[in-house]
Amino acid sequence: MKSDNLLLSERPREECGIFSVYNHEEATKMTYFGLYALQHRGQESAGIVVSDGKCFMEHKAMGLVPDIFDEKILESLKGNIALGHVRYSTTGSSLLINAQPFRIQYAGKQIAVAHNGNLVNARSLRTKLEEEGSIFQTTMDSEIVLHLTAKAMKNGLEKAMISTMNTVKGAYSMVIMTENSLIAVRDPNGFRPLSLGRIDSGYVIASETCSFDLIGAEYIRDVEPGEILIINKDGLRGIRADKPRRKAYCIFELIYFARPDSNIFGQNVYIFRKKQGRMLAQEFPVNVDLVMPFPDSGTCAAIGFAQESETPLEMGVIRNHYVGRTFIQPSQSMRDFGVKVKLNPVKELLKGKSVLIIEDSIIRGTTSRSRIKTLREIGASEIHMLVSCPPHRYPCYYGIDYSTRGELIAAQKTVDEIRDFIGLDSLGYLSIDNLVKATDIPRGDLCLACFDGNYPVPILEEVGKYSLE
Ligand code: SF4
Repeated sequence: MKSDNLLLSERPREECGIFSVYNHEEATKMTYFGLYALQHRGQESAGIVVSDGKCFMEHKAMGLVPDIFDEKILESLKGNIALGHVRYSTTGSSLLINAQPFRIQYAGKQIAVAHNGNLVNARSLRTKLEEEGSIFQTTMDSEIVLHLTAKAMKNGLEKAMISTMNTVKGAYSMVIMTENSLIAVRDPNGFRPLSLGRIDSGYVIASETCSFDLIGAEYIRDVEPGEILIINKDGLRGIRADKPRRKAYCIFELIYFARPDSNIFGQNVYIFRKKQGRMLAQEFPVNVDLVMPFPDSGTCAAIGFAQESETPLEMGVIRNHYVGRTFIQPSQSMRDFGVKVKLNPVKELLKGKSVLIIEDSIIRGTTSRSRIKTLREIGASEIHMLVSCPPHRYPCYYGIDYSTRGELIAAQKTVDEIRDFIGLDSLGYLSIDNLVKATDIPRGDLCLACFDGNYPVPILEEVGKYSLE
């Protein structure tokens, strides 16, 4: 095992976070802090492109936001408009060339794009563009968007964006920057979040509202599904690219990806997750000594469960917050090092106790299995687990990194078989009905495809070959 793989858990990964500022003298620094708040959405690379009204300047690198930028670099990026991006990629495309924002020059003009999501017709679009003479520099969906937009630019950027949105299919929230404007775009189904805020006389657009709080921006509203929002010297203007389609807000953003202090799809993530816990307690009355999460997954749901069931809530495992991505490889005798270095159980608390663990999801099951083994070794008498969503039986093609059924334990095994594989005394999953009830969103406005297999945008071609940026 490679040493830097030890800390890469089976947890699913979001593909990207976007943050941008229009008309602020501190645009670069604000974007830096905005990306800092969005780091959970992508940890492989980050970048900021800044415009001073005439020219673009950029800095992109592999790594975490605080490691990539320092005072000197931020000082050198001068301008009042900034666009930033944090990225996670699937294996094989983890290259600096694929770091975003991505920029091109077209007819003497500069355009940069930062994208979150995944196009489901990327393969056919790319093939067609290549046949027509486009030369691609990266493997990113974002580059397809830029090529399509550039080709349609003869009628102006606005019409070009409408044409692009009518051509691409799938999940995308993106921000495009020109020398003197920002254009925010959200796909007609609204899979990924994208919010608009205000700071002083400028505007901010970000994947999640937790980033607004950090820089003192005020939330105005979400960019609507299917909306193209143009911000320039004339102010703010939203146009609709297409007739409204059914909404398909990604429920897994609420369950897992977004930060609990964000509001997405019109609701607060923390409060939603607590409600999931309450629903679990109603669906599965249990009698145990204590309920606990594995930090930081399932924490809000565990609080909700404990309150509803009046079961003592404990932090039975302690997380080391200072573990980096790489470290010296342990010797063979240091068993389960990868698990223990990150989470260490409180033996005196758990020994001889019946324990209920609340998890937010089980994707491959291997991490849960190692963690449960550790709890058994320290003498927990019973170990039960409740998961605050239904079993993941279907892949996601809209920008989350489990894109084949083979990666999903629930696509291969029954709930009882998963219980035995992980080594639990019992295992239960929240039903789809109760999951939906925990939201304030009508069922028809949610994407639940990884649970029920009903894909809101049909998957007509192989997806994910190029990337899941
Ligand atoms: Fe989200 Fe699942 Fe739909 Fe993917 S399939 S967009 S993870 S709800």
